[in-house]
Amino acid sequence: MPALEPIIGLEVHVQLKTKSKMFCRCDNRDDQPPNSAICPICTGQPGALPLPNAQAIDWAIMASLALGCRINQESKFDRKSYFYPDLPKGYQISQYDQPFGLAGQVTVPIDGEWKAFRIHRLHLEEDAGKLVHSGSSSLVDLNRAGTPLMEIVTEPDFRSPAEAKAFLQELRLVMRYLDISDADMEKGHLRCDANISLRPVGTEELHPKTEIKNINSFRAVERALAFEIKRQSGLWEDGHPPTIQSTRGWDEALQQTTEQRTKEEAADYRYFPEPDLPPIITSDEHLEHLRSSIPELPFDRRARLTKMYGLSAELSSSLVEDLELSAYFEQVVSEFRDYAATEIGNEKANALWADEKGKDTGLIANWLLNKISAEHRTTHGLPVPARDVGRLLWMLHQGTINAPAAQTVYEQMRLTKKGPHTLVKELGLEQVSDTGALEAIIREVIANNAPVVADVRAGKAAASQFLVGQVMKATKGKANPKVVQELLRQQLAA
Ligand code: ZN
Ligand code: MN
Repeated sequence: MPALEPIIGLEVHVQLKTKSKMFCRCDNRDDQPPNSAICPICTGQPGALPLPNAQAIDWAIMASLALGCRINQESKFDRKSYFYPDLPKGYQISQYDQPFGLAGQVTVPIDGEWKAFRIHRLHLEEDAGKLVHSGSSSLVDLNRAGTPLMEIVTEPDFRSPAEAKAFLQELRLVMRYLDISDADMEKGHLRCDANISLRPVGTEELHPKTEIKNINSFRAVERALAFEIKRQSGLWEDGHPPTIQSTRGWDEALQQTTEQRTKEEAADYRYFPEPDLPPIITSDEHLEHLRSSIPELPFDRRARLTKMYGLSAELSSSLVEDLELSAYFEQVVSEFRDYAATEIGNEKANALWADEKGKDTGLIANWLLNKISAEHRTTHGLPVPARDVGRLLWMLHQGTINAPAAQTVYEQMRLTKKGPHTLVKELGLEQVSDTGALEAIIREVIANNAPVVADVRAGKAAASQFLVGQVMKATKGKANPKVVQELLRQQLAA
């Protein structure tokens, strides 16, 4: 049996966070009492006429551009007919042959390498309602009916579950940078179906695929695909690879996929142009306006942070994961530099930046990523002004305070809203770098630890760390460790 490789494609639905629904004025929120945000249009009453949401269309075009798609400047909506209790109209308004976006490409960082995945198409449609099952009956909630959805279909370019997951995470990030969807998988703002087939490595032919539905988290994407690879490998090994397309559902509790139904052919949906909506024409001018309103995207921000601040690829990627934190990082760096200039003068501060910017920004990035924990983040954003954190980190950089003290001051800034200088004074955290005061303490430590001193003199370098520790203890952690080490070396050499 030759080795098999997985061929994976994704179909993603992204819920847009417009104020109103796709074709009516109902509130587009998912926290309202059942069947309270509905009207004749989204419940499919006879004679009700849809009116397209211009915001949703603009966002679909912006998303298409962000994903590198070609734009259909003449687009239209179509009816996709099917019967289901949560779809009172008996059809969904979707797009068939003229989607907003076509033939895009997204480049995603995977294990430190860049890999490009092609986008087949991006179109806009409305969501259906929701069935709520209770006991032996089912209830219908139509609040979600008519919610704007973008459907993004990729080419079958993924060769592992990890690649599919990385792409989805990048897609979520792009949606958040565009600020058009919360793209939270757990809340159903980003829903993913994956299709997968296997083929012997080295062959080009594609085999009937299996579509996996009901994948509700990034973890589930990886697990469901891994399960399917194992299941289909078994079928190949038994000499019976899948011969027809099928649909399976991911069962989170059982951690397996189970057979659902065979896939309808596209013709079953009886697509035809929506007669109640005119074609959507996007002028060159409007397209340019939309293009220019796209903010910096994660891909570009990663590259810029690396270049501008001399950050490592890992650090810039970690920052970019968090839209808010990466913007905060830039503010903190700017405050750090401003403060450096007022403290040591413009010229020296600029020379320092030229000399060691990567080191300083690395210190700042690491500090922000490690010390600002999720529970500090409130709905009001980051709790301490960038200016104060910039100043605090300059003090740390200069050795005015040491790292544990910086953490203490940060905690207090968060709780008391006081500035860093006030707190360093109030808490008595200023490092002792005064050699006179430290020399006396070091003399005492040497006198009280004769055996360790003998070890150091015998060449055991590690033993001197113990002596530094004793000095730090005697100064309640306020001694500047660099100064202590130097003084200790001098006294032991004497
Ligand atoms: Zn409505
Ligand atoms: Mn769809």
